[in-house]
Amino acid sequence: MKIALQKKGRLHEESINLLKACGINFPLDLSKDKLKISTYNLDIFFLRDDDIPSYIQEGVADIGIVGKNVVFEQEKSFLIKKHLGFGYCRLSFAVPKESLYKSSKDFSGKCIATSYPNILFKFLKEQNICSYIHKISGSVEIAPNIGVADAICDLVSSGSTLDSNDLKEIETIFSSEAVLICHPKSSRLAKKLIFRLQAFKRARDNKYLLLLFNAPNKKLEKIISFLHKSCKRLHRIPKAALWTYIQVIVPAFIIWNILDELKRNSVKDLVVLEKMRVF
Ligand code: ATP
Ligand code: ZN
Repeated sequence: MKIALQKKGRLHEESINLLKACGINFPLDLSKDKLKISTYNLDIFFLRDDDIPSYIQEGVADIGIVGKNVVFEQEKSFLIKKHLGFGYCRLSFAVPKESLYKSSKDFSGKCIATSYPNILFKFLKEQNICSYIHKISGSVEIAPNIGVADAICDLVSSGSTLDSNDLKEIETIFSSEAVLICHPKSSRLAKKLIFRLQAFKRARDNKYLLLLFNAPNKKLEKIISFLHKSCKRLHRIPKAALWTYIQVIVPAFIIWNILDELKRNSVKDLVVLEKMRVF
């Protein structure tokens, strides 16, 4: 089996970790400069992410891991076999912080800089918005500051790059994560790997955490109704006039949403414990 992974960049490490979790052995001395490593039944190619979809389509490699954004931009979505649950980001419009543009509806006749002209063109066409697309291959955030565009359409995850370039995000047009792509006639080994990835993902999604904390009584009903939506086995023990002690089991993959919401509601003394759900 031949696998194509990003040589360096945001998906490199997690792609390797995922494959290791699925039982693929990498050499211990994985050098950053090696573009190909081979074991007895496996070749791994390290490539620029943009080249991976074509390598898979042409059958040079059987399986690849790449951002869904790249696959859609190259109109090769038929290669996608699985969403992998990492490398989350979104393709969004952003404008200078002081700009009055509120949404894409305001972009008629304006110029938008992007590295994703195909996805952007389709979106504008569907929305009946007539804008100029200025294609740039990197550092898109600089375009409004140097006067070559009114807005940008670029990948965002935390938003910190936009912020440090005095831009604000106003609308998302595409949500992305890492995907497994596969040659249409992928080998038996490739199918086996997909099965393992599925099992690994299922195990990860079924991991639970136990949260223990004190909730202020004046926010109690709000906190409990929020937790009831996605959590299991919630116990509350009235503690004092102002606080209630809560213990609840939450799915690990949404832990950060839950912690953010609890923080907004002023909970204190919070402890998170890992719990194996046996039965
Ligand atoms: P290459 O040298 O392989 O062409 P690159 O510069 O195009 O690398 P990276 O910046 O490493 O690519 O991003 C790889 C992928 O990571 C993106 O295509 C996207 O799917 C995902 N990603 C996640 N968060 C972000 C983000 N904040 N900005 C850009 N890409 C992100
Ligand atoms: Zn790239």
